[in-house]
Parts: sequence; C-alpha cells; structure tokens
Amino acid sequence: MIYMTNIYDMTRDELIAWLETKNVKSFKAIQIYEWLYVHRVKTFDEMTNLKKEFIDELKNNYTIDQLSIKKREESETALKYLFELKDQNLIEAVVMKHDYGISVCVSSQIGCNMGCAFCESGRLKKVRDLLPGEIIGQLLAIEENSGLKINSVVIMGIGEPFDNYDNIIRFLNIVNDAKGMAIGARHITVSTSGIVPKIKEFSEFPLQINLAISLHAPNDEIRNRIMKINKVYNIDTLMSAIREYSTKTNRRVTIEYVMLKGINDSKECAYELVDLLKGMNVYVNLIPYNETSHLEFEKSSTKKKDEFFEILNKNGITVTVRREFGGGISAACGQLRANEVER
Ligand code: SAH
Ligand code: SF4
Repeated sequence: MIYMTNIYDMTRDELIAWLETKNVKSFKAIQIYEWLYVHRVKTFDEMTNLKKEFIDELKNNYTIDQLSIKKREESETALKYLFELKDQNLIEAVVMKHDYGISVCVSSQIGCNMGCAFCESGRLKKVRDLLPGEIIGQLLAIEENSGLKINSVVIMGIGEPFDNYDNIIRFLNIVNDAKGMAIGARHITVSTSGIVPKIKEFSEFPLQINLAISLHAPNDEIRNRIMKINKVYNIDTLMSAIREYSTKTNRRVTIEYVMLKGINDSKECAYELVDLLKGMNVYVNLIPYNETSHLEFEKSSTKKKDEFFEILNKNGITVTVRREFGGGISAACGQLRANEVER
C-alpha cells in the first residue's frame, strides 16, 4: 500500500520541495494553499485552476483529511469540541470567546507522558503525537462548524507541545503562513511544562510566537511533588533557560501558575515567587484550578487567590488572573476526552 500524506501536514516550503521533484513551478503551492485555507475545499477536483494531470498527481500522493466532530459542549463564553481522528483516537479543543476576539486552545498529542499530578491529560498516557494537519484540522473544523473566525491560538490542550517539537514547528509555520490560516505570530502561544533543551531551540525559531511556561510552584520541593519534569529540569535550570530565551528573543515570557488549595497558594509561596521572578522579563498568569472528578486536587479559595495576587502585584511582578471559561462544561484540558475514553 502506498502511504498517503494528509496535505494539511505540508508546510508551504515542503510542498514547494515536492513540486520541484515533479518539475512543477513553485507558485502552484500558493494556489493549493489558497484552495485549502481560503476556499476550504475538501476535494482536489474542486481546485479548478489546476490541470487535470496535476490534480491526478496530487490525488496519487495526498489525501485531504478532515477531523470529525464527535461531541460539542457549549456555554455562553466557551465551546468545547471532541474530535475523532482517522485512526479513531480522540482529541479535544476549546473555543474561548473574549471581548477582544475568538481564541482556540488546541491539543498537540493524544494524551501526555509528563504526568503532572493535577492534570487530567497526563493521567492518560500518550498514545501518539499529533501531526501538523491534525492540529490545523482542529481549527478548520471549528471555523466550519461554528461559523466563527479564529483570532488567536494557544497550544494548551492535551499534550506537551515540546515533546512533539518538529510537528509543532511545522504547525506554527502553516498556521502563520500568509497564504495559510494567516494567524499572526503574536496571536499564537505555546505552553510548555519546561523541557529546557527545547526552550533553547525555540529561541532560534524566527517567528515571534509567545512562550508560556507552566511553573506552578516557587521551589523544587513543591514542584517535584506535582510535576515530574522538575526532577529532570529543576527550577534553577528552567529559570536560566527562560532568562536566556527572553534575552535572545527580547520577548516577555508568561509564567503560568495554577492555584492549588493547600499546595502552592500560601503567602510564603507568593513571596518566594516574587524572589524567584524579580528582575525577569516575565509576567504571571494565575490560573484557577479546574477540579476534575478523578483527581484529589482542589481549587484555591477566592480569598487565597486575591492575597496571592496582591503580594505579587505590590512587589513589582506583573500579574493577571485567567478568566474561567465554560462553567458547566468540562472545560479543563483533557476532561472531555478522559470521560469519553473511560466510558
Ligand atoms: N503541556 C503543556 C500545555 C498543555 S497544559 C503545559 O503543561 O504547559 C496547559 C496548561 O493547563 C498548563 O499550565 C497546565 O498546568 C494547566 N492545567 C492542567 N490541568 C488543569 C486544570 N485541571 N485546571 C487548570 N489548569 C490546568
Ligand atoms: Fe502534560 Fe501539560 Fe498536563 Fe503536565 S500539565 S500532564 S505537561 S498536558
């Protein structure tokens, strides 16, 4: 059997390289991209400005694979999709309606191997990495189904993007391509649990993508307890990598801090976090924990969260609190899939 590539996996440069092997002019890549991402055709036959022989050549080498929507949950401010992939695996994406636009949180892997104690995605082991076309496919299916125009993308769904680095880079190139989805680099955020060598590598990536780091603890003792990765790259190592990254790219890094009751939400933790981050080009995003039925962690009280916020704020750390989305729907990354897989 000939292996057929999903054409959505192809960056424009990869497509051009393939066209060269067929002695076809490189501008055909632009035409193909426009059919896929502007006109959103679902068959090669609809690419009516291409010659019949060339369409056959495309059909012999590529498929145009869509994701199928298995389930959709809706609240006033959020939409959550469960998708089925070609091999029947399930992934999910969440649409968040902000006053400044529509942002979508996409998955990067099927499951996650990082095993953070509080996270539903990590509870189910990784089955495989997602291909670029399966990440793009989440955006295309959402726009088609909801009629919404996506303004920004965050890679914060199921999976650790830097454990699927090469496919994420290809995805970023496609989604940012002016002839592709054309989403500006500054409207794209990648979140990592802290895979240090990849943070270094990412500092060389030319697009101005935002980087977010899941820190979630001000010291190794606490971080070791909730994030296994800290035993490989501890806070010191991670902080140096972040400093190096922001110096090199001149970009501010987001520090994510999920507020877990009795674990990392004390005043002492807040002061320790101030000391850790002082002078760095970062800002902190406090995340209200989304409680899940399987894990014993609880969300911090509003009082604790406000206290924590004030300590950072008064001590010169820029801090925001993430709005809670999707009340009533299983909004935390991985919850919808976890419920479905275990049924
Ligand atoms: N693997 C990457 C990206 C996906 S997780 C990472 O860890 O950064 C995206 C963010 O959601 C992370 O900051 C993660 O810690 C957080 N998160 C995981 N489970 C959560 C939950 N139940 N409630 C709130 N945030 C959660
Ligand atoms: Fe994986 Fe991120 Fe969840 Fe940790 S928080 S298990 S890295 S998805």
